[in-house]
Amino acid sequence: MSELSVPAGEVRAPAIPLYDIVPYAIFFALIAALLFYFVGAEEGATSIVKGMTLHEWVHDGRHLLGFPCH
Ligand SMILES: [Zn+2]
Repeated sequence: MSELSVPAGEVRAPAIPLYDIVPYAIFFALIAALLFYFVGAEEGATSIVKGMTLHEWVHDGRHLLGFPCH
């Protein structure tokens, strides 16, 4: 029996072509970049949201990831 043959009764997940994953990869990369910005750079001169509310929401994440804070 070769390694590529499927034993009777075994169900295998269908292979997903890499081309079909590209839009999802781009979407999640943009979301990750946005979250990375809000955690790492949303403060001071680079801030796009007024006040410290957003900073306080992600404050522990900043310290966890090693971004300078206070
Ligand atoms: Zn801090």
